[in-house]
Amino acid sequence: MRLIKLYYKQILIIACAIAVVVIFQAYQYQSWWRSDVSVWVFDVGQGDAIFIDAKTDVLVDGGPSSCVIEKLSQVLPFWDRSLDFIVNTHPHADHLAGLVDVLRRYQVGEVWTSGQVYETGVSGAFEGMSENIHKIVMVGSSIQLQEDVKLEVLWPNTSLEGKIFDDPNDGSIVLLLTCFNSRILLTGDLGSDQLEQIINYVGDIDVLKVGHHGSSASSSDKFLQAIDPEVAIISVGENDYGHPSQIVLDRLESEDAVIYRTDINGDMRVICSPDGYRIITY
Ligand SMILES: [Zn+2]
Repeated sequence: MRLIKLYYKQILIIACAIAVVVIFQAYQYQSWWRSDVSVWVFDVGQGDAIFIDAKTDVLVDGGPSSCVIEKLSQVLPFWDRSLDFIVNTHPHADHLAGLVDVLRRYQVGEVWTSGQVYETGVSGAFEGMSENIHKIVMVGSSIQLQEDVKLEVLWPNTSLEGKIFDDPNDGSIVLLLTCFNSRILLTGDLGSDQLEQIINYVGDIDVLKVGHHGSSASSSDKFLQAIDPEVAIISVGENDYGHPSQIVLDRLESEDAVIYRTDINGDMRVICSPDGYRIITY
């Protein structure tokens, strides 16, 4: 009888410990029961990997390596191995390579691309793994992530199915996330010429994921003046391209944008709620 009581006590302790872990994870990470939405800009070195943690979740690009797997495991509970949507803005490896690892390890609902063709080993692996869940998107495509939270494609302005660009950056998908009253613009690596074409229907932006890691080929004066961002997040790591460009940093400062950089500030979390947004760095 004493032995049974002893086991009973141990089982109870283990069950309580598991319950504490589950409740802690649910409280810390999950948006299932909260209305808040977190937009994580992961520090993945030179590249982009942005995770929108809403009731319907979306990973926008996967960075240059499998390090995105570790990042996702830090922000998702241990039992969650599924993603509703993946968007690959364009097929350069610094945005795509990590997505191949994500497709290996996560159950993914749908994969969005612009349809542009770029023949590399990484692209081939990605296409092979996503062909049954692949959708080509353009301006007008959108996802209602939850009530009052919507993700819309603003660029490309036409289908790029089968199209080959000299520079794949020119076919980057641009996304506008309207999160309650806050507006967040994700510009991929799109250049200034194309970004200036969407000025009229972008309007004022609260948080800008700065285009092309802060390259001077993106973020022109005309574009920044039109969207007037309060906060500018640059996803950048060690690189030989001179990113971010001092010219772009100066332009952002002259627009009074508060600048965050993944190479300096690490992982970033933009938390949106009906009361507005705030930014936490890790
Ligand atoms: Zn890039």
